[in-house]
Amino acid sequence: MEKYDIAILGGGPGGYIAAIRAAQLGAKVVLIEKDKLGGTCINRGCIPTKAIIACTNLYEKMQKAESFGISANKTAIDLKKVIDRKNEVVKKLVKGIDFLLRKNKIDVIFGTGKVLEAGKVEIGKLIVESRKLILATGSSPASLPGINFDKDNFLCSDDLLEYRPIPEKLNIIGGGVIGIHFAQIYSALGTEITVYEALPEILAGVDEEIVGEVKKILKRKKVNVLTGTNFDPAKSSGKTLISIGRTPNLIGIEALNLKMEKRSVWVNEKMETSVSGIYAVGDLVSKKMLAHVAYEQGVIAAENALGGSRTFSYDCVPFGIYTHPEIGAVGMTEKEAREKYQNIKIGKFPFIALGIAKAMGEIEGFIKVISDENNRIVGVHILGPEATDQIGMATIAVKNGLKVEQLAETFQSHPTYPEGLQEAALNVLKRSLHIIN
Ligand code: FAD
Repeated sequence: MEKYDIAILGGGPGGYIAAIRAAQLGAKVVLIEKDKLGGTCINRGCIPTKAIIACTNLYEKMQKAESFGISANKTAIDLKKVIDRKNEVVKKLVKGIDFLLRKNKIDVIFGTGKVLEAGKVEIGKLIVESRKLILATGSSPASLPGINFDKDNFLCSDDLLEYRPIPEKLNIIGGGVIGIHFAQIYSALGTEITVYEALPEILAGVDEEIVGEVKKILKRKKVNVLTGTNFDPAKSSGKTLISIGRTPNLIGIEALNLKMEKRSVWVNEKMETSVSGIYAVGDLVSKKMLAHVAYEQGVIAAENALGGSRTFSYDCVPFGIYTHPEIGAVGMTEKEAREKYQNIKIGKFPFIALGIAKAMGEIEGFIKVISDENNRIVGVHILGPEATDQIGMATIAVKNGLKVEQLAETFQSHPTYPEGLQEAALNVLKRSLHIIN
């Protein structure tokens, strides 16, 4: 077999994007995937959860139909059909990735890859040789000591994305993003939920003020949140989702004896591992297990493997959480900004004061813009309608070190949600027009 320029292990967001970028640069590329193209993100993560949340959000909204002048008194949700729709969405996206890989002339080998040594991967009886190797094997749900995911009492996020009758009660161990996503879904389905979080607060890494508001919203939805609480599985009754984090997938790469950083593979900012010619990206290495981090790291690894010199930084990683209303955030939280700078400035704008939010019936939440003493925007946090989309504009501001004035004086189309971001920036300058500063 002809030697490849680059072999990539794992066809999730980190791997398939690295493959496409390397092919764009003219490399001969092979991608090895043991399961389905798209990895966790498309098959068991970002997309399936959002496809289900689209249904539960609509279901919740239909229950308020009367307030929009619509009679819909016989609303019902069929979880089987919701899951079927989710499966269709996933199937189409996986097909799309297959199409992209073929059009980019990337060879795809389905099977479990085992790295024998740098530049040599074994897949069953086949041995693939390459000049460079990018590892993108991702991660799997972590469990508690002594507890196995049995698909009955103890479940992981993968299990709850397949059809099973709606449980009357669901314990969720871990109040991180994944746990709160499932609390959102199952509370809409009428399940009684208790979230157990060992840390003093849920949603680690999210601005404290936003977390406070989310807890109020969850309480209203009858989600019981117990923080600072270690769950005792022996006392559990009903079904329990364990969402305490994810473990990097190291099986198949042991022979390389790579330097590690806690449970992850160590890489430098160029995505190089401790072994020359071997790169690693995504959940396998990441300090932030997010699909867009994997994408960006995949691009950088591919470019560097082909002679580039790009670096990855965790300084400006936006994220979205699909609670209802949503959360979108980028940059420093208020606490982090106070720790870093002597004087910070904060501007806020509530959605209740925004025309479009009133028209759409989505008035809950607010936007918060944080700047340093020189008015440089260092963080933006949104709880409210379309927050996960709105954060895109804020990301441009934080990434490019824009000043509050630049955001405040970029006037937006009316009536739209981004007007709220402009108003929050104006509020930093005490110049908001639709609230009293
Ligand atoms: P993965 O997507 O895990 O892909 C790794 C691939 O490698 C897999 O396909 C696996 O089969 C394959 N593989 C592993 N070992 C081998 C081997 N030896 N040989 C061949 N193939 C192998 N992120 C967001 O940014 N936004 C979200 O809204 C979001 N929601 C999520 C919701 C849930 C429930 C979960 C679980 C995750 C969510 N994520 C989200 C995280 C996101 O899915 C991951 O960060 C992303 O998929 C990581 O990409 P990756 O390429 O590193 O790994």
